[in-house]
Amino acid sequence: MKAILVRDTGGPEVMKLETVPDPKPGPGQVVVKVEAAGVNPVDTYIRAGISYRKPDMPWTPGYDAGGVVKAVGSGVKSYKPGDRVYTARTVSGAYAELVLCEEHQVHRLSDKLTFAQGASIGVPYGAAHRSLYGRAKGVRGETVLVHGASGGVGTAAVQLARAGGFTVIGTAGTDEGLALVLKEGAHHALNHREPDYEKKIAELSGGRGVNVILEMLANVNLRRDLDLLAPRGRVVVIGSRGAIEIDPRATMTKDSAILGMSLMNSSAEELSEIYGDLVKGFDAGTLRPIVGRKFPLTEAPKAHAAVMEPGARGKIVLIP
Ligand code: NAP
Repeated sequence: MKAILVRDTGGPEVMKLETVPDPKPGPGQVVVKVEAAGVNPVDTYIRAGISYRKPDMPWTPGYDAGGVVKAVGSGVKSYKPGDRVYTARTVSGAYAELVLCEEHQVHRLSDKLTFAQGASIGVPYGAAHRSLYGRAKGVRGETVLVHGASGGVGTAAVQLARAGGFTVIGTAGTDEGLALVLKEGAHHALNHREPDYEKKIAELSGGRGVNVILEMLANVNLRRDLDLLAPRGRVVVIGSRGAIEIDPRATMTKDSAILGMSLMNSSAEELSEIYGDLVKGFDAGTLRPIVGRKFPLTEAPKAHAAVMEPGARGKIVLIP
């Protein structure tokens, strides 16, 4: 089969399409024919060598795929060849024609969703769900600010929060992004590139502040986030690309909390609960992954450049 291989860390160009042996499922494993693979920012950090995760080389990137089961190993009970599935983590990497997974890394793909949408679930929806519910312990009726709502995690968070009965404020950096955020269910959308947009957030929350902030760029926003919170508010740091100085007193005055979140810290039980809950939303149509752009697998380097550029509009996926 064809697969992207990274032999040494570096820029997007270190990803090369090569021919490798087809994976064979061992006991408890599933091989999925990949129809689409999701591109996540974390794939670029690992490829560049700036993540704490240092996979053995050569390495095939990709946690998320949508596709069809091709073969199952002994003891696999939940899947059979031909089943429509998506992956959330893999053994062999999703940027390939075939991907090897443990059975628990494979999930049923709702009939309502395309394969490209299936490739947009694992990391983004997992991160949004664990942040809103697992970390912030958000409850219906609260106000949530999705700070960076136009990308993979942000659009998922907006849909989840809206479906969960929250008042949702989302931010984006382009008109197209703002339109998407409103379409996906935000009650209000604000441009994070405009001066003083935070003042509008305070106004929109009736001066009380927001209960939960799901933060995609903490190194830029965390200090101001602390001022935007209501008493006992929670900021969940989902994304951060550098350092920032904050005044810890801002957390004391409101009993507020800054909560880190890495999906990689989830236990198998947590992940099974998260993806089990999400499928209800996919079947009901309240959760609809947004595929912004598709690139052929051969253009994985272009897709990696694109995912790091401003102007997000949902997910970027690769088509083998
Ligand atoms: P993405 O699709 O590339 O989206 C990036 C988002 O950040 C867009 O909505 C973008 O808006 C927004 N953004 C840009 N400048 C911003 C600013 N000044 N303030 C607030 N938001 C801003 O990426 P993603 O997949 O959604 O991931 C978002 C972040 O979370 C990334 O840093 C990623 O590494 C991280 N992440 C972490 C986990 C975890 O487990 N902790 C899991 C998944 C993702 P515009 O493009 O419209 O400006």
